[in-house]
Amino acid sequence: MKDPKRYMVTSALPYANGPLHIGHIAGAMLPADIYVRYLRAAGEDVVWICGSDEHGAAITLRAKKEGVTPKEIVDRYHSLMSSTFENFGISFDVYDRTSSPEHHENAQEFFLNLLEKGSFEVKTEKQYFDVEANQFLADRYIIGTCPKCGHDHAYGDQCENCGSALSPNDLIDPRSVLSGSKPELRETSLWYLPMGDHEEWLKSYIEEGTLNGEQQHDVKAWKKHVIGQCKSWIDSGLQSRAMTRDLDWGVQVPVEGADGKVLYVWLDAPIGYITATKRWAEQNNTDWKPYWQEKDTQLIHFIGKDNIVFHCLIFPILLKEHGDYILPYNVPANEFMNLEGDKISTSRNWAVWLHEYLEDFPDKQDEMRYVLCSIMPEQKDSEFTWNDYKDRVNNELADILGNFVNRAVVLTHKYYDGIVPAPNEFTKVDLELIKVIEETPKKVAQLLKSYRFREAQLEAMNLARAGNKYMTEEEPWKLAKTDPERVKTIIHLCLQVTANLPIVLNPFLPFTSKKIAGALGTVHEDWNAASTTLLEVGTAIEKTPILFVKVDDATVEAQMAKLEASKAQAAEKEVEPVKESIDFDQFTGMDLRIGEITAAERIPKTKKLLKLSVKTGVDERTVVSGIAEHYSPEEVIGKKVTMLLNLAPRKIKGVESQGMVLMSEDAQGNLSFVSPEKGGKAGDTVR
Ligand SMILES: [Zn+2]
Repeated sequence: MKDPKRYMVTSALPYANGPLHIGHIAGAMLPADIYVRYLRAAGEDVVWICGSDEHGAAITLRAKKEGVTPKEIVDRYHSLMSSTFENFGISFDVYDRTSSPEHHENAQEFFLNLLEKGSFEVKTEKQYFDVEANQFLADRYIIGTCPKCGHDHAYGDQCENCGSALSPNDLIDPRSVLSGSKPELRETSLWYLPMGDHEEWLKSYIEEGTLNGEQQHDVKAWKKHVIGQCKSWIDSGLQSRAMTRDLDWGVQVPVEGADGKVLYVWLDAPIGYITATKRWAEQNNTDWKPYWQEKDTQLIHFIGKDNIVFHCLIFPILLKEHGDYILPYNVPANEFMNLEGDKISTSRNWAVWLHEYLEDFPDKQDEMRYVLCSIMPEQKDSEFTWNDYKDRVNNELADILGNFVNRAVVLTHKYYDGIVPAPNEFTKVDLELIKVIEETPKKVAQLLKSYRFREAQLEAMNLARAGNKYMTEEEPWKLAKTDPERVKTIIHLCLQVTANLPIVLNPFLPFTSKKIAGALGTVHEDWNAASTTLLEVGTAIEKTPILFVKVDDATVEAQMAKLEASKAQAAEKEVEPVKESIDFDQFTGMDLRIGEITAAERIPKTKKLLKLSVKTGVDERTVVSGIAEHYSPEEVIGKKVTMLLNLAPRKIKGVESQGMVLMSEDAQGNLSFVSPEKGGKAGDTVR
């Protein structure tokens, strides 16, 4: 396909309901940052936008949990996320937010445009309603079992385990997040997008890259898992999806009589890309339209795999229905990044939070960028571990890149007072190195254009590897006395490698690249400047600062301990939802009394079970209790406990258990008897 005139690049808008973790960065932001830094350096016309997604149930639920307003939540996290991105070197052209009046207006305008074109259909349907909370349960307000993968914590809009988009009615065993109760169905009117009407053109757009016979994109450049997910969606038949919600937080539906209804967050969020571009254009005194509406623009969405359906199917429908817009050229979605053998989870606090990393490792942005790019989940899920972080920083950044640059600069100062020496005739080995200098920018560029960021970084680092190997094998320090003319050539070439490194590494390691280029007086943000004579003979160079400090075991251990501690803290805070209401008769139906344990023995061949004899005031009975890991038989004799007397008897390991001894259980699973505080005696009633 022809080269485009300009690039419109977007990164998935993160929800402003919590801090950023490495999974967000590795999924949608770092690859885009690398890509855009390259395009800018290559002199391309590119705009990269992102912003905080400030609507949807993720926000209102967080506000509810903390007892504050949604506005307070989005203000807090928008400001934390903006500063974290900036400190990490994520170089958006604009970082916007969807709660702005401009965005509300823009989203409403877009909705009305489609409404007038008849793109939506109003349907009155039964939706889940929480009677206790007096609210319809859309999206994340409802959880249940995923019909596709069986995950028992799937949300009403999506299963985060398998990435399937869902609607609340798909969930098996649905429960309200607000009250934990089983919701009832009530009628409400919503605007639906009849996605089934668009199946045919979506199929050719996704599978062949064509729309009305015209080539839109290069299918071969799309990731297989992205096309696969879209195909399986289309093949199983696209269902109508509600584009509005009964909620009080979001963009109001701009239709009379639609009070209490807002646009679905997944309708307004991608329109947020357009609003952000408008803001950028205003700030830069230019026109936003070519970036979204001209055919010689490439529109590229960087996202995580959980957003594929929205960017590859729903948003293209909206753009096409509007009529003025181009369709995405590519959606290079990443898979998920796990952490130390487990899924990253905000609720379980199993994450490396980026703002905390920046506090613990000031000025070490490039170390994390490098590691995340090395293990970027481009084709399949990947895993971050602190030991791997240590190994990559020590063995690759410090031992190869840092060591090479340091030796080249130090030897130049030692032998030539910091002046670039003139080379003599090149040998075969020299010419091989020159070839690597010449080829590297082309190879890296080709990989970046194909969204293969791991390989691109590896290829850029191979220039440092080649320089390091060359210097180690040529041993200029040994030749300094015997063949000083040869040493000039060696150092000259090592310096040319050093000067080219900040150019090819800048997309990945912008902070380090700036330091190296600064010391040499060369450029790092101009791809076209790469050359084998970048550093002129006779130029004076400064000494470079230490580029990378090695990571020690104590640092790794401290980070591991921090992870475990925050997970334990989160587990303590985790509260089980309240069970469904029962009426008073159901409660009084339970015969609860104080019992006294008179005898106890282990049940043979079991780990957990004790056989207890309990005096109940009416009789003496046998109860099998799963407490052997918490109490020894000797310990329990004489204890006063709470007992459920009228639980139907059942046989456990051949012993008939007549009732149940009640236990309290903490988050770690420790059991303890529930005993009357002031003593009491066997037979006292409990109510
Ligand atoms: Zn699932």
